[in-house]
Amino acid sequence: MVDALLTSLGVPASAFTEGNHAVHTPIDGSRIAAVHLQGKAEVVAKIAQAADAFQAWRNVPAPRRGELVRLFGEVLRKHKAQLGELVSIEAGKITQEGLGEVQEMIDICDFAVGLSRQLYGLTIASERPGHHMRESWHPLGVVGVISAFNFPVAVWAWNTTLALVCGDSVVWKPSEKTPLTALACQALFEQALKAFGEAPDGLCQLVIGDREAGEALVDDPRVALVSATGSTRMGREVGPRVAARFGRSILELGGNNAMILAPSADLDLAVRGILFSAVGTAGQRCTTLRRVIVHRSVKDEVVARVKAAYGKVRIGDPRKDNLIGPLIDQQSYQAMQDALGQAREEGGVVFGGERQLQDQYPNAYYVAPAIVEMPGQSAVVRHETFAPILYVIAYDDFEEALQLNNEVPQGLSSCIFTVDVREAERFQSASGSDCGIANVNIGTSGAEIGGAFGGEKETGGGRESGSDAWKAYMRRQTNTVNYSRELPLAQGIVFD
Ligand code: NAD
Repeated sequence: MVDALLTSLGVPASAFTEGNHAVHTPIDGSRIAAVHLQGKAEVVAKIAQAADAFQAWRNVPAPRRGELVRLFGEVLRKHKAQLGELVSIEAGKITQEGLGEVQEMIDICDFAVGLSRQLYGLTIASERPGHHMRESWHPLGVVGVISAFNFPVAVWAWNTTLALVCGDSVVWKPSEKTPLTALACQALFEQALKAFGEAPDGLCQLVIGDREAGEALVDDPRVALVSATGSTRMGREVGPRVAARFGRSILELGGNNAMILAPSADLDLAVRGILFSAVGTAGQRCTTLRRVIVHRSVKDEVVARVKAAYGKVRIGDPRKDNLIGPLIDQQSYQAMQDALGQAREEGGVVFGGERQLQDQYPNAYYVAPAIVEMPGQSAVVRHETFAPILYVIAYDDFEEALQLNNEVPQGLSSCIFTVDVREAERFQSASGSDCGIANVNIGTSGAEIGGAFGGEKETGGGRESGSDAWKAYMRRQTNTVNYSRELPLAQGIVFD
């Protein structure tokens, strides 16, 4: 079935049947394809082609570059259903979330098309007579994109659409766990290239490979910017290597996202917010809600309501009418069980977390989402376990809640449920949440593309997608022009 889907998306059969690397679906663990893993030599060759393409692409007017992205958005609209289904098969997302991910690609295309006419610089007042100053933004070079399994298509689109309108070329290395969606994206992008007709060869390259291929991108001085999404462990390796050659990086790494649930909160909203944020994508989002810091006066009620809601969520084949699909693989399941064991040792009381549907799917890993009541923010709570585990910690006063929110190494997403305007404003103030995302009466996950996305501390500090994130994909130039007949020096220096 996956063969027909890939063919309908324009991927040639040789790309997914003749390779040396087996691809399994997390839905039942069966083998669905075999792709060829590329190594360093192939990556280096693709970077060379992308570097050549950049020489031409940077001179194409930005609104014209936007036209290519507009055409890509049209191709995506036509193939949304098939690509969404492929995301479900390869990454295990439920149908709605698979489609949502493709919609996010379409949205960022629209954003980038508008941006292609708005790559604004500044004019700056000069201190010298007969001079003017301005700031210009120029294309940067080859952008290397390294992406994670859990957003197999959207993260590439966030980076690539912006890079293209900014005048850059792209080399993408997706997760080795999700090569099929990457092949499909590349085939769809080639349709847009064909319709556009005048893009240089090698503008957008795909490398199917593992860590070795990623390292080749990271170390190549022709790659001006490495945008890497994945675990903090990966970022710890990538960040210093790119910096050592004075390259630029955007690091989008692990999160450990919390909700402060205040006594005034609308509990109906909060429980719904918890449910989507904590169990959506089976807890495998970087923005998944992992900690609820709840006021002691409402804790028992909240825990009882969340447990009741957890008891009702349907777990199973993500293409059917279920809300929780499988974990990506056995390793992920093991990491979840290890974390629950550690939580018990640290005084936690665990509800849920057991393996599900094992008889039906002996080679796939479905789990019941877990709620763990913890006596405090112990070691296991400070660590990101990429699975549906929700730690619940009680607080007594608001300052303590803020401290708990910030007292983890990661800094991606955070939220507060309250109707107290003082608490809400304080949460989003300079002395409030220290995360890149801080929401009020909305859960931690499900960001829109219009805002800059990313987080602080061990989340890596990068920003991509909306707002002025485009600036990371360009180089800034300060220009001063003298239109007088004199040559005055700045700071009034006389040098006769
Ligand atoms: P991962 O770190 O195992 O792999 C991510 C990518 O990095 C893969 O393509 C992998 O091949 C590559 N890679 C690994 N080591 C490398 C190295 N030394 N050099 C170059 N490339 C290397 O992550 P994963 O399991 O695929 O994804 C889950 C993680 O990603 C979670 O921690 C999650 O929070 C994080 N994530 C973060 C964001 C964000 O925007 N902050 C978004 C999605 C996922």
